[in-house]
Amino acid sequence: MAVGLVWRYTATERRETPGAVPTDAVAAIRAAAAEAVRQLGSLAERMRGLGRADEAGIFDAQAMMAEDPQLLGEAVARAEAGEDPEAAVRAAAATAAATLASLPDELLASRAADVRDVGARIVRIMTGQDVAFPASPSIAVAEDLPPSIVAEVPTGLLLGVALQGSSPTAHAVILARGLGIPAVVGVPGLVEAAGSATCVAIDGESGEAVLDPDPSQLADFAARARVLAARREAGASLRGRPAATADGERVILLANIGGPEEAGRALEAGAEGVGLFRTEFLFMRRQSAPSEDEQVEPYRRVFEAFGRQRPVVVRLADIGGDKAVPYLDLPPQANSFPGSRAVPLAARDRGLLSSQLRAIWRAAGRAGVTPHVMAPMVATLSDVRLLLELRDEARAEVAARGEPPPDRMITGVMIEMPSAAILAPELARLVDFFSIGTNDLTQYTMAADRSNPALAHLQDALHPAVLRLIAGVVAGADEAGIPVAVCGELAGEPAGALVLAGLGVDELSADAGSLDRVRAALAGVTRPQLADLAKRALAASNAADVRAMARELLEPRGSHGRA
Ligand code: PEP
Ligand code: MG
Repeated sequence: MAVGLVWRYTATERRETPGAVPTDAVAAIRAAAAEAVRQLGSLAERMRGLGRADEAGIFDAQAMMAEDPQLLGEAVARAEAGEDPEAAVRAAAATAAATLASLPDELLASRAADVRDVGARIVRIMTGQDVAFPASPSIAVAEDLPPSIVAEVPTGLLLGVALQGSSPTAHAVILARGLGIPAVVGVPGLVEAAGSATCVAIDGESGEAVLDPDPSQLADFAARARVLAARREAGASLRGRPAATADGERVILLANIGGPEEAGRALEAGAEGVGLFRTEFLFMRRQSAPSEDEQVEPYRRVFEAFGRQRPVVVRLADIGGDKAVPYLDLPPQANSFPGSRAVPLAARDRGLLSSQLRAIWRAAGRAGVTPHVMAPMVATLSDVRLLLELRDEARAEVAARGEPPPDRMITGVMIEMPSAAILAPELARLVDFFSIGTNDLTQYTMAADRSNPALAHLQDALHPAVLRLIAGVVAGADEAGIPVAVCGELAGEPAGALVLAGLGVDELSADAGSLDRVRAALAGVTRPQLADLAKRALAASNAADVRAMARELLEPRGSHGRA
């Protein structure tokens, strides 16, 4: 929630800063690109310092784009042919962006914006111009916002972000969330309407943006902010205590992490372990696969940070499709290629997953813990059989080399394909736990690409269609006596947490920054209230109705003056 002055950001709004225009165009391009690499590298470092490995990765990737030989080669060739150097850089970045944008995938298309942003940065450096940041704390209002702008606006000056386009999974938005900056996206007509506005109020929870709010609207926002602050305070005061409902029903709260750097933040937030350790960071943004040895160290660091008492669930690399890795040479396909991710991928390339599994066995052996591992994108029973075979084979290989592995690996599967949800009773007999990936489960159930803002109305994981699948998964798991976690974004939302706990989910895994509010939401309700909420949610006809039901529990009527 934020209320503040409008800062209209446009890609061309620039402030002149002194800087000599170099005489040698080629040298100028190369020097500016090198400076861009340095700046982006230090933004990545800043993010890493904040424990945000995922966000740091965005700038690492942009730094690589800024030194990409193809991009620079084209810019230099154009400049040598007499083109104005700034235009040459822009044109080269546009070529690279057009190549990415032509790929039939929203996430790759979002990388096109990142390349254009890199081109714009090189040009800014060449011409000695800076983005004109707001003079006082403000809310950025724009069609879209490059992630680097979110990271660069000096601390305290960016109160919020309101975007006409973009999507909840766009880099700038992920970054804002990580920095605790509220954001609303996909607001139709926002830029034109904001043309004459001076003030804007935004609510990141409901997605509302109100331009030049009148006194009663301001009072409403202030009341909502008070409820939010009270929830935050309640959450912070419960930190360190196990999460439970008011009448004592325990729910295990775990953290999602994207690299060893995030372990500290998760522990500080009171995570009882890691429910999703995304390992893609080891496999992406590089030219060849990481070796087994290279992988052991980061896994060991995370295992040791959490120790024997707090489980760490390592997710086998979820790569392919939108998460591109050039060295795998996957054939181009439309869609986000669920068929080529993780275990399905192993059917063609066993080497990659075998080396990851060996590295996990070795890292766990060194840290003296029992590892938990799960496979993403499991679709069939044969996927699980292959996973178990690869797991046991990897253990035998490590043991044969004389390095003692732990006795067992607790092995689960992610339920994020509708087929896996439907097959839950059978899958449950083969594995030790389930972890529901509501992000993908929703997109595949609703046939609504998770990064396409035009389909936002279908992407809500609280849709009863998704909830009924989840209820079936819980029933299948209960029958086999295995626990069920949820590690999609829904688990970190108070409304989602209540519905999921009501459906019988045992563990919720979310970004460390969400754990306080989930703990507070659970502490404010009783088991019968959750059961009643789940029953009504399953019978609801749309996600909005489910949200309204959950809101009733979170904010009892009259608590902030709204009807
Ligand atoms: C999910 O799909 O819900 C999930 C947690 O996996 P990812 O977001 O990494 O695809
Ligand atoms: Mg997923």
